[in-house]
Amino acid sequence: MRHPAIRRHRAFTLVELLVVIGIITILIAVLLPALTRARKSANSIKCQSNLRQIAMGAFLYMHDYHDQMIPYVVNTSTYWPQLEVTYIKDQQVWACPDFPADYIGLPSANASNYGINYDHLANSTNGTPQPIALSRYRASAQLMFFADTQYSVPLKAKYGTNSFTAGFLRTYCPIDQAKLNTTAAKYLATNAGMDFRHNNMCNVVYLDGHCGQVSNPQVVADDNDLFDYYARPN
Ligand SMILES: [Zn+2]
Repeated sequence: MRHPAIRRHRAFTLVELLVVIGIITILIAVLLPALTRARKSANSIKCQSNLRQIAMGAFLYMHDYHDQMIPYVVNTSTYWPQLEVTYIKDQQVWACPDFPADYIGLPSANASNYGINYDHLANSTNGTPQPIALSRYRASAQLMFFADTQYSVPLKAKYGTNSFTAGFLRTYCPIDQAKLNTTAAKYLATNAGMDFRHNNMCNVVYLDGHCGQVSNPQVVADDNDLFDYYARPN
């Protein structure tokens, strides 16, 4: 008489288990850099979309204010992002996905991960100097309007609280900074206050509304007159 077949459950051997773990580890090692690159690339695309909307907000503001360049600050306390609040409804626009700290909320002097071209574009208040009409700027396709800027908390710790605004809402012309003899100015002469957080590149929107990326050496060389140092308005 034959015994009924007994189904035997065979466990994995240790070797088989180690082989499977080894294969999974190799797969992760192969896929992880590609996934990281894809995520960084998606972050950069989102950041450029933010910059385009910030430029659009500035154009709308200028349209309502006789074509005058949007100022960095008015009445000593209302900064350019606050001037754009009327035109930009999505608060996430002020946050770069690759910024080291989360930022959600209304823009203020303490917020926004982006800075305006300060020294030769927006350095004006209601009074002095008079803002210049947008139409007077030449080479707007090479002239930086807004860019990724740095995280000011570590900068403050390093260079002192008076040297940097909390939100770091501006970029600095390296040529101008090089003329100043302070520790903070020397630091800014080497990076313009810009942050190269997208694979060592900084996202920029130009005065004609198109986006691009620049590296730190390109910014310091300034050979395309990114900050409008040589090509002053008419
Ligand atoms: Zn960014």
